[in-house]
Order: sequence, then structure tokens, then C-alpha cells
Amino acid sequence: MANDLFGNLGNLGGIVKGLSSFMPQDDPAVKMINAQTQVSDLKKQEADIYVEIGRKAVAQYGLEAFPEYADKLRLIQSNLQAATSELDSQKAEHEAREKAAADAAAAARCPSCGYDNPEGTRFCQECGAKMGAQNCVSCGAPLQPGTRFCGECGTRQPE
Ligand SMILES: [Zn+2]
Ligand SMILES: [Zn+2]
Repeated sequence: MANDLFGNLGNLGGIVKGLSSFMPQDDPAVKMINAQTQVSDLKKQEADIYVEIGRKAVAQYGLEAFPEYADKLRLIQSNLQAATSELDSQKAEHEAREKAAADAAAAARCPSCGYDNPEGTRFCQECGAKMGAQNCVSCGAPLQPGTRFCGECGTRQPE
């Protein structure tokens, strides 16, 4: 049917044939990839079932019924436990580092104009606003950058 269609279209058919990407199912390379994908998928499904059978067999007969694998599996499971807790602690450290970096970046961002200043900057390099969290020195109320007198308690803020 596709050939008839191309024949009727004449020159246009040749152009369409050249654009084989528009007809992926007819492309031999695509057919091969599809077949390859199907083989891989089925192999994976087969392997998954063997895994399930293995787990059930161990649950039912115990690891002792498979002495040729018992020691190896126990060693792997012990290593797996150690590796898992190592991974957990590495993840926790990674998150802590990221949070510290995010906090440092937030602290260096100008509260007035949003400019990203280098860490430890005391006055914004872009607009001159005082950097750092601003809280009333007396009552601790949050203050806008550059506030001279606290709106809550009236205390004069240090320059
Ligand atoms: Zn600024
Ligand atoms: Zn105050």
C-alpha cells in the first residue's frame, strides 16, 4: 500500500522516501533496534522471574539448601549493609554541604537589590545597602535594610 501511495505521488514520493525518518517503521535500522529492544525487555522480564523464584526458594528451603551460594550471599549482604549505611551518611553530608552553600549564598545576596555579593561583604557592592539579616538590636524585630529606628520599639539602630 505504501508503494502505491509513493507511485501515485510521483516525484513527491521520492522525496517522501528520502525522508525515511518520517516512516520509522519501514527503516531496517529502526526494525533492528525494535527487535533488539524486544529481546532486551523479554530477557529482563525472564531474569526478574528467576530472581523471584530464587527469593521464594530461599524463603521456603533456607539458605542452607544452597550451600554453594550461601557464604557468598551472606558476604554480599553484609557488604551491602555496610555500603548502604555509607551511602546514607554520604547523602546526609552532601545535603548538609548543599544547605551550607545555599545559606552562604543567601547571606551574601543583597536584601535590598538582590545582587549576589561575595561572601562576607558588609555593604552591597551594587547599591550600598547594609548586608546581613537586620533585626532590631533591642527587641529583635525584623527590619528593612537601612532602617534607623525600630518600628516596634523605637530603638535607634547602629550604623
Ligand atoms: Zn544591593
Ligand atoms: Zn526594636
